[in-house]
Amino acid sequence: MVSSFVVPIIDVQNDNFKELWPAMVVAIKTSSFVALDTELSGLGNRKSLLAESIEDRYKAICHAARSRSILSLGIACYKKLDDKAEDAYLVQVYNLTLLCSEEYIIEPQSVQFLVQHGFDFNQQYAHGIPYCKGNNKDRSDDRGVHIRALFTELLRARKPVVLHNGLIDMAFLYQCFYAHVPERLATFTADLSEMFPAGIYDTKYITEFELRLSASYLEYAYKKCKLDNSRGVTSTGTTPHIQVEFCQYAKQMSSYVDYRPCPAVTSADGHTETCQRFSAFGWCPNGNQCPLSHDTDLIVLQDEKSKEDKRKKRKRQKKKRSREEVEESSSVCEGAPCNKLPHMEVDTDETPDVQHVACSDNMQSNEGDSMKTGSQGISVCEGNGDCTQTNNTVNTNDQSKTGGDSENNEHIKKADSQKKKADAGTHRAGFDAFMTGFIFAYSHRLIKSEGVEADVQEKEQTWLPSCLNKVYLSGKATPLNVVKSTFSKSSKAHVQKMEMVWSERM
Ligand SMILES: [Zn+2]
Repeated sequence: MVSSFVVPIIDVQNDNFKELWPAMVVAIKTSSFVALDTELSGLGNRKSLLAESIEDRYKAICHAARSRSILSLGIACYKKLDDKAEDAYLVQVYNLTLLCSEEYIIEPQSVQFLVQHGFDFNQQYAHGIPYCKGNNKDRSDDRGVHIRALFTELLRARKPVVLHNGLIDMAFLYQCFYAHVPERLATFTADLSEMFPAGIYDTKYITEFELRLSASYLEYAYKKCKLDNSRGVTSTGTTPHIQVEFCQYAKQMSSYVDYRPCPAVTSADGHTETCQRFSAFGWCPNGNQCPLSHDTDLIVLQDEKSKEDKRKKRKRQKKKRSREEVEESSSVCEGAPCNKLPHMEVDTDETPDVQHVACSDNMQSNEGDSMKTGSQGISVCEGNGDCTQTNNTVNTNDQSKTGGDSENNEHIKKADSQKKKADAGTHRAGFDAFMTGFIFAYSHRLIKSEGVEADVQEKEQTWLPSCLNKVYLSGKATPLNVVKSTFSKSSKAHVQKMEMVWSERM
């Protein structure tokens, strides 16, 4: 592999589900870890999804999971190839089109977004794989060829599971393919810790707290990792990097495969003006109509350049300015994970004033902090270093959930990059799962190379010990820990389910 590759995404629908089933189960069972992503029919009230109290947030997420549904599921199986000297992975990506058989709410905003990004609702209704939500309806629910049984296979495989901003995904997966989500958050995390004994990893948490990138929305993190990784590939070999390989699909399979190009990015021409809002949050209310570039490759490169400029400028300034001044200038949100203004959560009547988006300079004035805070106009720092939004443009941060995250520019556009924003096309969930897995594999390589945890990781007991079972919480300095506490009980439905899952294990 070089820095440019093409990702084959296998399109799974009701008519080929049975045919593909054995291959999918093998891919899951032989993987080193599995990355997941979902497309949802909506999320409900954005504000309650970002409530200060995590328990309140969980209630809102449960409400959404009970009343909405998963429209598509992306599964990316990463298998580490042991015979290679470097970190190489064989990756198999599936995009499952699903159709909930029960009534559910579908939000106009979500539909609009998904349609704009190539989601085909005709296809979904004609060929979606049907499923029922909540608890098992009968004993056959965990057998045979259907999506709940596939989820059971995933549990049986006992693989580490990787998501990007995964709390909402986990609640939806639980509710749609497993059982009714429990009332209490502590019960939910207790259940999850038993369902996924090899651990849950959240690449948004990893991006913010380990990689400390300028922005942490999925596409940004992926493109930045991919760019840094490609530098490792082309250098003399001392720079950590990973390789991804894909299967050559046989003829009869190839009709189900969608090929998604990921070209190498080298440099940006300096003339294209990127959208600052999109740059920071992976979302912009102007969508396709925005006159500025939403090209994530370009944004990543420009971020790097402006960081470098700042670093140089800083060096010069340091000589002139007193120490206090320098410290003050970098103390805004120092090291704190600041709240992003991701997308999608903006109600139309409270679309943030454009002036809230600071120019690039303001946005990065607190360079010591790795996060874009969305500028002083949006966030302030509290004593605890956490950031709170001060205006009413509250967003949950998951762009990718109901479709909102970034628009994907698959190709590097030259002169027309301002006008053309290539849509992600279909198979978003599949490709998003691929991107999530890539960030995880790269982060693992990077952190391993720092040597700290090499011994532990060689055994592959734990991939990224510092990130194990930590699920990202928007606007919070601490993650949600997926553990079973001494005081929390597992839910009844879960206990029954677990018995059944493991009883057929042999
Ligand atoms: Zn824009």
